[in-house]
Amino acid sequence: MRALTYHGSNDVRVETVPDPILKHEEDVILRVTATAICGSDLHLYRGKIPEVRDGDILGHEFMGVIEDVGPNVTNVKIGDRVIIPFVIACGHCFFCEKSQYAACETSNPDRGASLNKKDTRPPAALFGYSHMYGGVPGGQAELVRVPHGNVGPFKVPGSLADEQVLFLTDILPTGYQAILNADVGPGSKIAIFGAGPVGLMAAACARMLGVETIFMVDHHQYRLDFAKEAYDTISINFDENNDPAELIIQLTGNRGVDASIDAVGFEAKGSMLETALTTLKVETSSGKVLRQCIAATRRGGIISIPGLYAGFIHGFLMGDAFDKGLSFKMGQTHVHGFLPELLNSIEEGKLHPADIITHRMSLEDAARGYEIFNKKEEACRKVVLSPGGSSLAKQALPA
Ligand code: NAD
Ligand code: ZN
Ligand code: ZN
Repeated sequence: MRALTYHGSNDVRVETVPDPILKHEEDVILRVTATAICGSDLHLYRGKIPEVRDGDILGHEFMGVIEDVGPNVTNVKIGDRVIIPFVIACGHCFFCEKSQYAACETSNPDRGASLNKKDTRPPAALFGYSHMYGGVPGGQAELVRVPHGNVGPFKVPGSLADEQVLFLTDILPTGYQAILNADVGPGSKIAIFGAGPVGLMAAACARMLGVETIFMVDHHQYRLDFAKEAYDTISINFDENNDPAELIIQLTGNRGVDASIDAVGFEAKGSMLETALTTLKVETSSGKVLRQCIAATRRGGIISIPGLYAGFIHGFLMGDAFDKGLSFKMGQTHVHGFLPELLNSIEEGKLHPADIITHRMSLEDAARGYEIFNKKEEACRKVVLSPGGSSLAKQALPA
């Protein structure tokens, strides 16, 4: 089969690799019909995540049709059309029973050189996301093996086209969890840092839940303009104003927002010192956005962090966070639990996740897709790849 493989920083290639096979009794083999490139893939692409090996197949946002099932798979059958959560969960461990699927303690037993040696229980395995997260081949491919076939695959109705439901695999529940973690609703004011796909999905979910005011911070004006148009956000371009938090405080009666969402993560731009320190490997993450979140949020408010972090930050304003009585919520998304309600919202027309797609390409052109998305060329917001080579735009809605 054809698949997108990793060969070092800024080097991904579509190659012919062996087809996946069923390894366990609950495995499923999926024929991928649509797959996307995530901002998390960009951390891999830039060589920032350890334990990614030459030839690893990337991709964790994908959906398709069940091609084969192991003998113990009962929840889906050959021919079913499903989306696959990027988090692999067993469905019955201590954490899965609490609906904390991203903490599933059985799906990633061979966690490699752990980041944290005190970590007695590894986090869940993720598709296509390094050997720290299970070394499971990803879905930017024609076929993919899906472990725990009774738990992950989620059937989607034929009335919805692939691109309307594809983001249920990751960025839509991620934006939703970010807003639920922020504990906001009608009358609330929030600030979202990062107008990438995750920030945009958070804005869409905030609007759906009645949030009153949304400040959106980025430096790509085209992304800010789209957010304003689609979700009625107030744009702050940090190239023009290098202290967005100060402006947010002024515009909220010197109080600050109820919650800030960090949809950027550890590669945040804007601190020359931290960029230099991370290059020298003295620091692993940039704390620029976290400091802005702490500054922009009112006393007693919440900082919700879907953006990915790794390692440590020296410039973390713990004193300010304590003084203001802030709460922090963060982590990978517990995808599975959010799917029924988010699918309903799409069917009812309350969410239109496909609106953010700018690029529809063949899997064969995936390397170029990574380059465009990484460099923010061609006003790119989101790339969707179709392994069949057929354009998703031309895909007819099933009758
Ligand atoms: P993206 O790279 O397309 O978007 C990030 C945006 O942040 C860019 O538009 C960039 O210009 C902006 N940015 C950079 N520095 C900034 C700053 N100082 N202030 C404000 N904005 C800044 O990526 P994405 O797909 O939107 O993903 C965002 C983050 O969410 C990534 O870290 C990704 O790994 C993470 N993520 C986490 C989960 C989860 O389960 N928690 C799921 C998906 C993605
Ligand atoms: Zn992702
Ligand atoms: Zn589990």
